[in-house]
Formats: sequence, structure tokens, C-alpha cells
Amino acid sequence: MGFVAHIALHIIRPTKVCQDITREYICFSRPLLYVYSVQPFDLFSPTEEHKMLRDTVRDFTKSEVEPQAHEHDRKERFNLSLFKKLGELGLLGITVPDTFGGAGMDALAACIAIEELSYSDPGFALAYLAHSILCANNIAQNASTEQKKKYLPKLCTGEWIGAMAMSEPNAGTDVLGMETRAVQSGTNYLLTGRKMWITNGTTDEQGTPADVVLVYARSDIKDSGKKAEVTTFLVDRSMSGYSVGQKIVDKLGMRASNTAELVFDKVPVPKENLVGEPGHSLLHMMKNLEIERLTLAAMSLGMARRALEIMNRYAEERSAFGNSLNRFGQIQRHIAESYVEYKAARCYLYEVGRNLNLAVEGNRVDSDGVKLFAATMAKNVCDKAIQVLGGYGYVGEYTVERLWRDAKLIEIGGGTLEAHHKNITRDLAKNPSLIE
Ligand SMILES: Cc1cc2nc3c(=O)[nH]c(=O)nc-3n(C[C@H](O)[C@H](O)[C@H](O)COP(=O)(O)OP(=O)(O)OC[C@H]3O[C@@H](n4cnc5c(N)ncnc54)[C@H](O)[C@@H]3O)c2cc1C
Repeated sequence: MGFVAHIALHIIRPTKVCQDITREYICFSRPLLYVYSVQPFDLFSPTEEHKMLRDTVRDFTKSEVEPQAHEHDRKERFNLSLFKKLGELGLLGITVPDTFGGAGMDALAACIAIEELSYSDPGFALAYLAHSILCANNIAQNASTEQKKKYLPKLCTGEWIGAMAMSEPNAGTDVLGMETRAVQSGTNYLLTGRKMWITNGTTDEQGTPADVVLVYARSDIKDSGKKAEVTTFLVDRSMSGYSVGQKIVDKLGMRASNTAELVFDKVPVPKENLVGEPGHSLLHMMKNLEIERLTLAAMSLGMARRALEIMNRYAEERSAFGNSLNRFGQIQRHIAESYVEYKAARCYLYEVGRNLNLAVEGNRVDSDGVKLFAATMAKNVCDKAIQVLGGYGYVGEYTVERLWRDAKLIEIGGGTLEAHHKNITRDLAKNPSLIE
């Protein structure tokens, strides 16, 4: 049962006493105009299901994710066994319809799960995001019923690990500059190229590739000069020529997630593994980028909340010159600015999340907008937390240095800040009524 926000305007005689007024009233002389809210509305967990989800993931994060986070970051290891427990909790297909083994929840639920996991372990949360949003949600939204039946149940339990491969060694922001090509050959497409920076691209240290990966490739091989035709293929481990080029090591942050280069060497992909119509994947891509950006921004919220809590507590407990640190104006500025910027990002994100329809594209200005704001907000909050903690902030034991390293990724992955600037400006020029 959801909590329904109910706001109404009523013109009421001044003599009438209204028992159900819970908020405030505005008086424009007479008659009185009352604004009241019948039921409370929680922007961040609007329904009972959202609340239960947040509590469940928060408990799991505290008991299972937090204790292993530091070590997996230090060793650059993905915790596959813990990841599979997310399947037992029903989280791996959070937006996948229950007919295919998922939880059938909405974009906002995905934000909640990712925000909570990121509080303790953003690297682990990134692996979760790549699997559940970039791969499983993408299949749920864009693939055929047969493809959904084949891949989604295994992705939802965690039996298979999924990834999405768009970026390449020579094409990131300029995604249409991709070089991976698909050429028809009998009943197959032969897929050739390299994909770079693929989260979950490998699942272990032995170079085992993701069980299933959604690969974007050019299918307009005639170079007709027209816009690139992009087609999506479902590649799985049963197909020859699909392998890991390298596990990318020594990353600044997100070290608890595996990042890999994937190689496709004339991979014979059956036609039935083509998602949608050949050459028509730009819409899939755009639609999935919206939920990707929103959930990446949710990661920023989790990191910022943790850093803010740490600096707030530390500034109260630590003293200098006979006072708690939080009595000093410069420290107060770090804490207060972090708090309000975090709150502003959280309100923006949940407002966008609540209105994001996973089935259609068209939310780009705000999915880009919220990531643009939240990414830098979180990086700055983590930076201020290190500053407030002084030398202690600079070492792993106090967590904020790890969060600071992880937070930087959100300014690059899933679209750079500069890409968001470009998209937002373009969209506002096209549609000035977005500014209201
Ligand atoms: C840890 C990690 C995980 C990732 N996971 C995945 C994944 O699972 N799947 C996947 O497909 N990709 C993934 N990526 C790739 C990520 O999405 C890209 O790194 C990102 O899109 C940027 O592309 P690039 O690195 O090629 O940089 P480039 O596109 O080469 O950009 C370099 C710089 O130039 C700027 N620039 C480029 N074009 C313009 C322009 N027109 N105007 C102004 N500035 C411009 C960029 O903003 C940036 O500052 C991951 C990356 C990392 C680091």
C-alpha cells in the first residue's frame, strides 16, 4: 500500500475549525485559503514497498557488505559470493517483471538499493548496477520474450553475471564513433571488435568473461555516410571468439568491481540474439543511459551520506585548542555546505526517479542533470570530509579516502560531466519550456 500524497486547496470560512489541517495555512484576507496535507509524503521512500526495500538493503549492507568493503578495495577483488546473495534477496532483477524472476519494481527502487549499497561499498554497488541496470533492465525493456525467458531468470538469481559493453578503446563520449562491427553471415552475425572499461567484463582473476554481455555494434558496414546504425547483440559464454583481453588493474577507485577489456573475434551471434531491429538501437541506448545516469547519481548520494556522517561525528569528538572542531567556523562551513548540497541532490534525484518511466526515453535533461550535480557534490563532500579529519582522513581505516577515490568515477563513467553539459544545453535550447 502506497502513501498517497494528497494536497488540496480549500476555501473555508474563518469561523470553521478544521481538525485535519496538518500543515499550514495562507491567508489572503478573506476568504481564507487553506493549504493542507492529509497524509505525509516521503519523497525518498514513497510507498511501503520502497520503505521495506530501503530497510532490507540497509540491514544487509550493515551486516554483510560493510565488513568486507575495505579489504576488497585494497585487494582489487570482486566479491562474487556476496554478489550472489543479492540474488537470494531478490535484488538482482530489481526492475525485471516477476514473470521473468525479477522483483518488478520501479526506477526509484533501483535508486534506493544502489544508494544504500554505496554507503558502504561503492565498488560492489557498481558491479550491482552494471548487472541489474545496464544488463538485466536493458534486456527487460528492449529484448524479445524469448530472449527474456532465456537470460533473465539466470540473471535474477545470480547464476549468471551480466554486463553491458558500449565503450571502446577509441570511442567513449563519441559513442557513434564505435568500431565494433557486425556483419551478416548466413543465420549469424559475425561480431568483431574490442570493448573497453566493461564493469563485470570478467568475474574472477582467471579471466572468465561475463556470462552474458549486451554489446552495441555498428551494423552499417557499407559506410554510406549516413548516421551510424547501431545494433545490440546478446553475447554469452557459449559463443566462440568471445574473451577477456585484460582485467584493468590499478584503478583509482571502484576497485571492488572488476573492469575489463573484452575481445570479440568474429563471434558468431545467432540472429535470434539480436535485440530489436537491426540498426535501431540508439533508442535502447538512450533509454538505458537515463536509468544508468540516475542510478549512478544514487551511488553519489550513498557516498556523500557516509562521508557527511563521518565528518560530522569526528568534528564533534575531536578537539583542538580546547574546543570541539565543530566550534570552528571553517569546519562548520565544510559540514554545513556538505549537508545542504547533499540534501539538494537527494531531493532532485528522488523527484526525477519518481517520474522516470523505464519503458520510454525522454528524461535526458534531468537524468543528465541529476548526475552532473550529484557526482561533483559527492566528490566535494568526500574531499571536505578528508579535510575535516586531517591526517586520519588520509588513511584507509577512516573510509573517507576510499569514498573520495570512488566518488571521482561518477564524473566520468556513464557519461562525463562535459557530455552532460552538452546534452543539457542542447535539450534546453530545443525545449526552453523545461525551465520553469
Ligand atoms: C571504472 C569504469 C567503469 C566503466 N564501466 C563501463 C561499462 O560497464 N560499460 C561501458 O560501456 N563503459 C564503461 N565505462 C566507460 C565510461 O563510460 C567512459 O570512460 C566514459 O563514457 C568516457 O569515455 P572515455 O573514457 O573514452 O573518454 P573520452 O570520451 O575520450 O573523453 C576524454 C575527455 O574528453 C572530453 N570530451 C569528449 N568529447 C567532448 C566534447 N564533445 N566536448 C567536450 N569535451 C569532450 C570528455 O568529457 C573527457 O573529459 C567505464 C569506465 C570506468 C572508468
